Amino acid sequence: MPQMTRFPVAKPSLTDLEEKYVSDALKSGWVSSAGPYLERFEMEFAARCGTRSAVATNNGTTALHLVLAAAGVGPGDQVIVPAFTYIASANAVTYCGATPVFVDIDPVTWCVDVGQVAGAITSQTKAVMAVDIYGHPADYPDLRKICSDASIMLIADAAESFGGRLGTTPVGALADASTFSFFGNKILTCGEGGCVTTSDDDLAIRMRQLRNQGMDPNRRYHFPVIGYNYRLTNVAAALLCAQLERSELLISRRRKIIETYEEWASGSHFFDAPTTANTAERAPWMASLLVSPDAGFTRDQLTARLGDVGVETRPFFPPLPGLPAYGSSTGRAYPVSEDISDRGFNLPTYPDLADEDLSEILRRVASAVDELVP
Ligand SMILES: *Cc1c(COP(=O)(O)O)cnc(C)c1O
Repeated sequence: MPQMTRFPVAKPSLTDLEEKYVSDALKSGWVSSAGPYLERFEMEFAARCGTRSAVATNNGTTALHLVLAAAGVGPGDQVIVPAFTYIASANAVTYCGATPVFVDIDPVTWCVDVGQVAGAITSQTKAVMAVDIYGHPADYPDLRKICSDASIMLIADAAESFGGRLGTTPVGALADASTFSFFGNKILTCGEGGCVTTSDDDLAIRMRQLRNQGMDPNRRYHFPVIGYNYRLTNVAAALLCAQLERSELLISRRRKIIETYEEWASGSHFFDAPTTANTAERAPWMASLLVSPDAGFTRDQLTARLGDVGVETRPFFPPLPGLPAYGSSTGRAYPVSEDISDRGFNLPTYPDLADEDLSEILRRVASAVDELVP
């Protein structure tokens, strides 16, 4: 029997352009955290997002921590975070000595339920951190209203949503500050990297200082505050410049793949495709499907079977308040987060996935279902 092809859930798309820029960075000797690609990337990324500044960091988690630290979030403060997100969103709050206050999600967007945010604000609340989960932008116009009424900051964890929009406004410009991740499985990647976009000049200045150990930008080795080393390298920025240059193509190919999965799922009564809010355009991060409540099998039964036939999947993130790290922090209930998390999974999504491979994956999903529901 011929060896069965295995399909990974994610795979970076790296071409001659990435190689050319990285090689150029190496030959220039600028391999550390200064250099022309860093400046170019920050300028081009801010332009793409429609913000005054982009501050590059060494990963998406440090981007989150950097913005919270620069906003002065500290011990005794609270930050509202959706219960359904990757753990980095909440960990960044915890690093500040502050407490993440978890709120359930909206069943349409899977992002923070705006109706519950206002009720979760207390005198200790310093910020709301919305998360564009699986690429869907959160409801920023309504969140903005709530946050400005309460005089608190609105932060977007946009790690998964580069290329998304609300109306004509791109992700990156929808909140007071937005953070991105360039991990290997994200829409743009440099292996490990991150960025914060903002049009608040003071915030950008504070972030640049904190990113560089807290050093006074005008006085070498003078440190008015305690900062961090959250700098990105020029080599990584070279890779990002290439990815940004290719981003239209990377995004359109991902979008096509995700549409194919979703169209297929809409025609099957075993699956539900994700839904999109009115003016939102989802960023095409990973194909995300739900097993229907009455499918007759569970998500875990399906993904185990798919793993056996060479289709790698990811289960959705578990709700954070149920994890040991955050389990004691709440008395609230998170029924929507729990339901979506139990039923959701990601399928192989990467720009280099060919049409015939996509058809083969769908054939394997269909026969896995047939075996589960005889
Ligand atoms: C990937 C991700 C992060 C963290 O990014 P890293 O670059 O891995 O540190 C944060 N939040 C969300 C929602 C993510 O998907």
